[in-house]
Amino acid sequence: MLTKTKIYLSSPHMGGSEQKFVDEAFSTNWIAPLGPNVNGFESDIQEYIGGNKHVAALSSGTAAIHLALQLLKVSKGDEVLCQSFTFSASANPIVYQGATPVFIDSEPDTWNMSPELLEIAIQDRIQKYKKPKAIIAVHLYGMPYKAKEINAVAKKYDIPVVEDSAEALGSRYYDDYCGTLSDIGIFSFNGNKIITTSGGGALVVTSKEEKDRAVFLSTQARDNAPHYEHSVIGHNYRLSNVLAGIGRGQMEVLDERVAARRRNFEFYKKHLSKFNSISFLEEPESFFSNRWITCITTDSYKLREDIRLALQEDDIESRPLWKPMHMQPVFKDCVHFTNGVSEDLFNRGLCLPSGSNLTEHDLHRVLKKILKPLNL
Ligand SMILES: *Cc1c(COP(=O)(O)O)cnc(C)c1O
Repeated sequence: MLTKTKIYLSSPHMGGSEQKFVDEAFSTNWIAPLGPNVNGFESDIQEYIGGNKHVAALSSGTAAIHLALQLLKVSKGDEVLCQSFTFSASANPIVYQGATPVFIDSEPDTWNMSPELLEIAIQDRIQKYKKPKAIIAVHLYGMPYKAKEINAVAKKYDIPVVEDSAEALGSRYYDDYCGTLSDIGIFSFNGNKIITTSGGGALVVTSKEEKDRAVFLSTQARDNAPHYEHSVIGHNYRLSNVLAGIGRGQMEVLDERVAARRRNFEFYKKHLSKFNSISFLEEPESFFSNRWITCITTDSYKLREDIRLALQEDDIESRPLWKPMHMQPVFKDCVHFTNGVSEDLFNRGLCLPSGSNLTEHDLHRVLKKILKPLNL
C-alpha cells in the first residue's frame, strides 16, 4: 500500500557538497570545535553578507545572542528591551545574564518591533528605573524589521541594538543583508532554518577585537598562559569543525534556498489571495524577505483552526504564529508595551509548510487541504 509521507513546516535540505567537507574533517582528523571548516564557514558567511563584518561560528543562535549580551556588558539588574513577537530564544539569554526583559509589541507592516513603542518604552524605563542596556530586534519569518527607524531611536538614546537574524539569512534591507544592520547580529543554523548545520549559529560583529573576545568567551575563557588560567567565566559555545563542514556546503546553495522559499510564498499567494478571508504579509518597498516561512492570516480564529486541523488530518505540519513573549507564563511578570498587534497575529495567523525541498506535488497536496474549509 502506498502511504503518504508527512509534510513538515521546514525540513533540512542538503545541497550535495556538505558530505565532502565533512569527509575532509574526518580524513584530516579535525574532529574538534576548531579547524579549517570552522574558519572556512566563517569566511563564507563574511563574504556573503559583506559590510566588512567579522563572524564567529558558534554552537547555536541562542549562544550567539548570549555572547552578544556579554559583549555589551549586560548584567544583573539591567533591563533589555526585546521584541515580544518572537521565539523564546531571543529573550532567554537576557535571563541567563541575570537581567530582565521588557517586551515591545510589533507594527503591522513587518510584524516586527514597533519603533514608536520602542521609544515610549525607553522614555518610560528611563523615568521609572534606568536606561535599558540593549535592544533585541528580530527579523521574524525572514522579514526585515524597520531598521532605519529602530536604529534612529536607539541612537537618540545611545542604546546598542542586537539584531536577531536567526530566521533571516539571505534577507536584505535596502542594499544590506540582514545581520549587518546594527551593532551586533546573529544567525542560527538549527535544523529548521533556511540553511542548517543540524545545530549551529553565528555572531556578526564590526571589529576583530569583538570577534576575538567572542571566540575567547566561547572557548572557556582561557587566558594566555602555558597552563589553564581563567580570570572570567567562559562557555563551551564554539561550533564543531564537523558541523561547520555541513555549513560550508550549505552556503554554496543559500541563494537557491532563498529562491525556492520565495517560490513557495508565490505559490500560496497565487492560489489563496482571491479569498478575502486570507491575507499575506507583503514586502514594504526596498525590503527583501528570504520568506523562510510563508505565513497567512485568516479573518477569524475559527478559520485558522479549521485550516490547521484540515492539514493535520493529512499529516501536514502547520503551526500558529509565535505566541508573544508577554503572553508566555514564564515571562508573565515582565513589563511590556503592547498595542494588540502580536496578540491578534497569534490568534489568526498560521505558518504553512515552507521547506525549500517541497515538490510541486507537495504544495498542491497542502493547497487542497487549505481549500477545504475555505470552500465550505
Ligand atoms: C531559531 C531562533 C533562535 C535560536 O537559534 P538556535 O540556533 O535554535 O539556538 C533565536 N531567535 C529566533 C527568532 C529563532 O527563530
